[in-house]
Amino acid sequence: MKILKTYGETANAAENAIRQIERRGATNTAKVDDVVHEILDAVRSRGDAALREYAERFDALAPGQSLRVTREEMQAAWESLGEELKAAMRMAQANIRIFAEKQLPRAFSFRPSEGMEVGQVIRPLVSVGCYVPGGRYPLPSTLLMTTTPAQVAGVERIVVCSPKPAQETLAAAHLVGVTEFYRIGGAQAIAALAYGTESIESVDKIVGPGNIYVTAAKSIVSLECGIDMPAGPTEIVVTTEHGDPDGVAADLVAQAEHDPEALAVLITPNEELAEAVVLEVKRQVQGNAIAEQSIAAQGYAFVTQSPDEARELTNRLAPEHLTVDSGADLRWVKNAGSVFVGNHTPQSMGDYISGPNHVLPTGRNGRVRGGLSVLDFIKVITVQQYTLDALRVVGPHAITLAEAEGLKGHADSVRVRMR
Ligand code: NAD
Repeated sequence: MKILKTYGETANAAENAIRQIERRGATNTAKVDDVVHEILDAVRSRGDAALREYAERFDALAPGQSLRVTREEMQAAWESLGEELKAAMRMAQANIRIFAEKQLPRAFSFRPSEGMEVGQVIRPLVSVGCYVPGGRYPLPSTLLMTTTPAQVAGVERIVVCSPKPAQETLAAAHLVGVTEFYRIGGAQAIAALAYGTESIESVDKIVGPGNIYVTAAKSIVSLECGIDMPAGPTEIVVTTEHGDPDGVAADLVAQAEHDPEALAVLITPNEELAEAVVLEVKRQVQGNAIAEQSIAAQGYAFVTQSPDEARELTNRLAPEHLTVDSGADLRWVKNAGSVFVGNHTPQSMGDYISGPNHVLPTGRNGRVRGGLSVLDFIKVITVQQYTLDALRVVGPHAITLAEAEGLKGHADSVRVRMR
């Protein structure tokens, strides 16, 4: 982990590193664009046959093994779990559900003037595909995080794709009541969900995190199919003046262990703290091969001249996970996927159990949106209605605006109804 002061002799080096971090989303996916295009084209043109080939090559699908997981397999996986894990999954599911329920927007209608009614209705998406990563670690937590808000929204068809799904992932699928689950992953799974194959019907929207192949594929298919956001390799920023070095280091290592491409950054005006955290990271990362790789490649401690500069830099990086000191006024946080406050809130609590979603925007998408939520699974559809009397009152204004735009047909379509 490199310590860089944003002032003095290292100011240029720090600025270069910051710029590189800012470009991370595009740089990461550009590396794999060619191979991802090839995979997407293969699945679009050869369907299930191509899916099988990739699943056998990348994800140890046995020849002859079905792509679709049966309900019996999911049930057996659930029954094989110990009681402790079952209880933890139930609690996570309940907390994710309650949080998603609170997020549901409301329908309304009102009359701005007599005879004119405007409003909105809320409708669930009809079909979604939930991508649950399975390359390095099984992530049953992601199955709960993606399918539960979809259920709360009322989505009719929820499809799960995960490469070489572990028993824990299949068990989580049984717990939430998933009925359509395919053991496929990577760009090929995204292609199957977006374009459809002989055995898999396409979906209206794909959600869920994944590595750079998954993230690149989602962004390419987004011209034809809805997606939630780029939710790629994990990112953590800890912005602190007086954090506990052990806890801060533990969070940095925890998120860095997701992927060699993960990003782990400390931002602090406190140089002594930066040194203590870097030492502690060095100690804690030992034996954790993936975290060692990502921290060596993308681990930074930026020492700023002031707390304000630390805050500005944080907003500039728009991190996926952000930890801040407790007691601070959060109004300064403009760009982040999810915020964790104080020494007693390890980011892993949010990864698993608190209820707010752990599927979060990476690659600076924290500038434009927060994490996955029930809002990703619904549409807000607006509705309006006039009586003849109201149309005669309000219609002339619409005619004036239409004529100002030179749109005669628009003006006439109002006029004709006012007679
Ligand atoms: P994954 O399921 O995302 O990727 C595995 C797939 O990658 C395989 O199925 C394979 O098809 C494909 N692949 C691997 N090597 C390939 C190659 N050389 N060519 C073509 N395709 C290849 O699982 P993972 O790799 O463990 O990654 C999970 C990712 O999800 C991590 O980057 C983690 O940080 C991220 N994550 C992000 C969030 C978020 O909200 N942003 C949350 C959880 C996890």
